[in-house]
Amino acid sequence: MPDVAVVGGGMMGLTMALRLSQRGHRVRVYEGENRVGGLAAAGPIGSWTWDRFYHVILLSDTALTGLLAEVGLSDRLRWGTTRTGFYVDGRWISLSTALEFLRFPPLGLVDKARLAATILRASRIDDPVPLEEMGALDWLQRWSGSRTTERIWTPLMRAKLGENAGAASAAFIWAIIARMYAARRTGLKREMMGYVEGGYEAVLPALRRHAEASGVEVVTGARVTDVMDDGSTASIAIEGSGRVSFDGVVLTTACPTVSRLCRQLTPAEHERLARVVYQGVVCPSFLLARPISDFYVTNITDAWVPFTGVIETTALVDRQAFGGHSLVYLPRYLTQDDAMWSANDEQVTMRFFDALCRMVPGLTPADIVASRVARAREVLAVSTRRYSTEVMPALDTSLPRVFIANSAQIAHGTLNVNETIVLADRQSAAVHGRLAAAATVIA
Ligand SMILES: Cc1cc2nc3c(=O)[nH]c(=O)nc-3n(C[C@H](O)[C@H](O)[C@H](O)COP(=O)(O)OP(=O)(O)OC[C@H]3O[C@@H](n4cnc5c(N)ncnc54)[C@H](O)[C@@H]3O)c2cc1C
Repeated sequence: MPDVAVVGGGMMGLTMALRLSQRGHRVRVYEGENRVGGLAAAGPIGSWTWDRFYHVILLSDTALTGLLAEVGLSDRLRWGTTRTGFYVDGRWISLSTALEFLRFPPLGLVDKARLAATILRASRIDDPVPLEEMGALDWLQRWSGSRTTERIWTPLMRAKLGENAGAASAAFIWAIIARMYAARRTGLKREMMGYVEGGYEAVLPALRRHAEASGVEVVTGARVTDVMDDGSTASIAIEGSGRVSFDGVVLTTACPTVSRLCRQLTPAEHERLARVVYQGVVCPSFLLARPISDFYVTNITDAWVPFTGVIETTALVDRQAFGGHSLVYLPRYLTQDDAMWSANDEQVTMRFFDALCRMVPGLTPADIVASRVARAREVLAVSTRRYSTEVMPALDTSLPRVFIANSAQIAHGTLNVNETIVLADRQSAAVHGRLAAAATVIA
């Protein structure tokens, strides 16, 4: 079977490598950092180690729970009933049950009926491609009306997309609603969420070991600087090291990196890769001596708050995992040119925590046990107009031995590990097919 290099050792690269090796290929993963995991990697906070960005599992994430079972982690999967809050007009409001929805103060009864109808309508759409023709906010305005769009949807869209909210197509909001609706349907209408005991610090080594046991070689600290197809083999150059040849190379990195590494691509391919609009995130997290709320997620609609949501991991994960402290993430999603990128960690920490103190009576800096700031430039490819037909990168490139399998190919889903695994399963089967066919022709 042909030999394959996978560039990038995140959840996508590791799963891709595992699946290709299970199909008989000799696979080597090249990861630029000194650890695998990418966006899913964990890091220290105080004396504890937990995901740098928050991660939750939904009951509908069957590809992920299947992979967890395959790597032997089923018995470490924990589920809990969670609640969702809104921070509106300076108040924390629960929006976790149908009754709370009926009582939700910012909206009148007619608004609520239209909001419920919008969600139901979106959940019944099977083919989201036609929704790519329309802006998300226009679509929401049409079905939910102006007041609900202004009071609820626009802040929610900004919470997910920052200033990119206006660029998203209606397929984006469809994907969010479909994921949350699926979670509640499988969770008997109550919101159930899950995590692996130990977080991704437990998941990643288990996945890596499983892949290695299947024959995958994982090389960390190996930044790829160039990818070429010379007509008979594909080769990659590694920073500070040499060039290595393979029968095929799969790039799992974000589109700007693909473009930078594959200079042989055609101008049209580079232009298409450049059309993918990426959302970034700055995400401080805090270990606190006290809890903030009962909500796993609090959506923020008040514009003065510098972050776009509050994720209280310890509303789901037992606080004993953190010595009795609370773990809280304050993400802010950003466009590539947002001024926030130039703020240093201390400035971000102070500004965000000041705002949290204004929101939470009695909270003071003395409650901070530990903090850290995580940032990522290319987190999510925004589902812009006509995304799947005119923007999304294809698996095949003009270089027959070079393939792209990255999260920008999640056309109608939100970015999550489950979708990443579904994509890795699909693309690994396709890459196997291409390489096996090429090998047959040569033989
Ligand atoms: C704030 C936030 C919240 C999230 N919440 C959830 C959640 O609740 N639930 C959920 O399921 N998912 C969540 N996710 C999404 C999840 O983390 C991602 O879907 C997943 O980790 C993406 O994996 P990936 O392999 O596609 O990309 P990445 O993790 O970005 O992997 C790409 C890898 O390529 C490497 N690389 C880049 N350039 C090179 C190079 N030149 N040479 C070698 N290696 C290179 C990088 O170092 C990286 O390791 C969240 C993500 C973020 C940021």
